[in-house]
Amino acid sequence: MIQDIAPEVFRNQFVPGDHHPDPHDVVFIFDGRTVLCRVLEDGEIVFPRVADFAGGLPETPVYLFAIEDPAAEGGHLEFYLLREKDSARALGDGWQFGNIRLMRTIHPKDLCFAGMTGFQLYCWYRDNTFCGRCGAKTVYSDKERAIKCPSCGNTIYPKVQPAVIIGLTDGDRILMSRYAGREHKGNALLAGFCEIGETAEETVAREVMEEVGLTVTNIRYYKSQPWGIESDLLLGYYCDVTGAREIRLDENELAAAQWVQRDDIGQEDSGVSLTAEMIMRFKEHPEEFAS
Ligand SMILES: [Zn+2]
Repeated sequence: MIQDIAPEVFRNQFVPGDHHPDPHDVVFIFDGRTVLCRVLEDGEIVFPRVADFAGGLPETPVYLFAIEDPAAEGGHLEFYLLREKDSARALGDGWQFGNIRLMRTIHPKDLCFAGMTGFQLYCWYRDNTFCGRCGAKTVYSDKERAIKCPSCGNTIYPKVQPAVIIGLTDGDRILMSRYAGREHKGNALLAGFCEIGETAEETVAREVMEEVGLTVTNIRYYKSQPWGIESDLLLGYYCDVTGAREIRLDENELAAAQWVQRDDIGQEDSGVSLTAEMIMRFKEHPEEFAS
């Protein structure tokens, strides 16, 4: 999955003090749901590096995180955020704001993961310029990754929203869906956000009932995945259907949902999303799902 970047290691720890980016460090500039990037002749997408700003960085960069390759000399790459979209003007020609979904295609995969996680932090900084409790202008903590209100003392940590991905199975069949009104048009599994006062297992049962009108049993945890472009922490669960198999579709949420036989599942790219990995796990390891 996208976060599996071994042998490289993601270092998300907050590093206090002044930072002095190296020329090869990566600089993110976002604007809405777009990211500043350059498309090379072969279609490859790259982010700007510090060295691309010929006159130096036009604003004080915000340190985000680092990715290290323990085996490589100089294998330490830092990632910075420029808050102002107008900072893009300090670059030469050829740079443009592209949809953040383009980041899924970036190779190597560690840069794709960094871009999505950088976007999550960008959204958090952007959305907490003012204190939600008293309305005063906020400042960045110099001790931890937090935004502080100097007026009332409110401390705001990065937003991480738990949500579930649901592999609902019935013998040799798995329930596949397509979501209404979303950018992603491919096959999906049922999914939904955890609500207040609810365990993740209760979310699984509720979402299945709400979206397709089915009852589940044998709910079991599989894996989790950070999904920065939506500020999500996705929790993958498999479960079995019990009782009636007939789907009653919630048409506000889903465009379609159907039972798909294991042998009819196409090849999904399981290198990025938890959803695709869970679909392929069901397809390729029937012994794990035999009752
Ligand atoms: Zn406040």
